[in-house]
Amino acid sequence: MQATFLGGAREVGRLGFVLSSGGSSLLLDYGLAPEDPPLYPKPAPRVDAALLTHAHLDHSGMMPVIAHEHNAPVYGTATTLETADLLCKDCLKVHRLEGYGDPYPEFAIDQLQASARRIRWGSPFDVGSWHVQAEDSGHIPGSSMYRVQGPSSLLFTGDLNVPPTRLVNGANPVGADTLVLEGTYAGREHEPRESIERAFLSRVRETVEAGGVCVVPAFAVGRTQELLMVLEEVDAPVYVDGMGTRVTEIFLKHPESLRDAKALKKAYDAAERVKGHGHRKNVCKPGRVIVTTSGMLEGGPVISYLKGMHDDPKSSVLLTGYQVEGTGGHELLKTGRIPLDERVVTVNAHVEKFDFSGHAGHSDLVSFAEGVSPETVVVCHTDTPEPLVEDLESVASRVLAPAPGDVFDLP
Ligand SMILES: [Zn+2]
Repeated sequence: MQATFLGGAREVGRLGFVLSSGGSSLLLDYGLAPEDPPLYPKPAPRVDAALLTHAHLDHSGMMPVIAHEHNAPVYGTATTLETADLLCKDCLKVHRLEGYGDPYPEFAIDQLQASARRIRWGSPFDVGSWHVQAEDSGHIPGSSMYRVQGPSSLLFTGDLNVPPTRLVNGANPVGADTLVLEGTYAGREHEPRESIERAFLSRVRETVEAGGVCVVPAFAVGRTQELLMVLEEVDAPVYVDGMGTRVTEIFLKHPESLRDAKALKKAYDAAERVKGHGHRKNVCKPGRVIVTTSGMLEGGPVISYLKGMHDDPKSSVLLTGYQVEGTGGHELLKTGRIPLDERVVTVNAHVEKFDFSGHAGHSDLVSFAEGVSPETVVVCHTDTPEPLVEDLESVASRVLAPAPGDVFDLP
């Protein structure tokens, strides 16, 4: 077999991986990096089919090209395919607002849905001469890792998390000859989820009891839902705003992709959905908690809330995920200031970041690899593969960290 990355190797974002054998090729993930300007992967060669691990744009954002230009089927769980539809359409909208060209026509997203094949974890299927099975990768609802059997076997993790969260079960290793492993947190560890939750809840309670408003910026896919479940433990009105509400409704349609669908339904029902601009204006009041997009303070309803509370020292802005350099969230953490309405303002509210990551930390990545027991490990989806490569050398006889475009042989 031969393999190459189109993007997402020695970098985070725009992942694309091509696997070929005997004249047949598979594409695993095909994403874009939604930066300013957006970054695209290398053009895909003609493939027979594509496997999509999950809906995040850095894995799914270029998949419509495969349906549109290659007329090839795209496989994914129902949850992944429906969420990707929403995110790809939103992505084109944002591109247009920011004045960037479209990477494909909007109808390509409908073509993707028309050519999509819905798969289930644990149910094997054949794609040409490849025998494929998807399993839960523990990252977000519906996220899959794929074990592909050709001349040898290969496990492609996509984004991976090992410990369970309130929202999803963690991933369990599956044996394979080659492991293609994401390494977002190579060289870094997370605190246990329970202590992160405890610290987050105590800050929320303090804010509410002091008569402040608690704004919780959250990614729409996965983080919004997990936080609503965590916030069930707080005795205060919780509001949810932004695209996270539509994503929650998709997740609830597919209970098989959740750890506890009833618990998510209960948390979602307990929160009040903010309906439009008029409602939003009346929500930002003392003693309330608002979970809203965007998670990195790059537009979305969170900006309206920040305008209403950034000056109040009793209030809090609680960031709940990784903040990419150059985003409003990163700027706020670094300088205590944020651009609002074309001017940069000082935020007097309490600002704090909580590490609710959906990616496995370094030790969990190494233990996961031990469980797969591969001969070869290929590290991707990180700009710092070195510490992971070093620790994996005792796990596999061959450890690679190729760059996009490098072609390498597999058994
Ligand atoms: Zn992801």
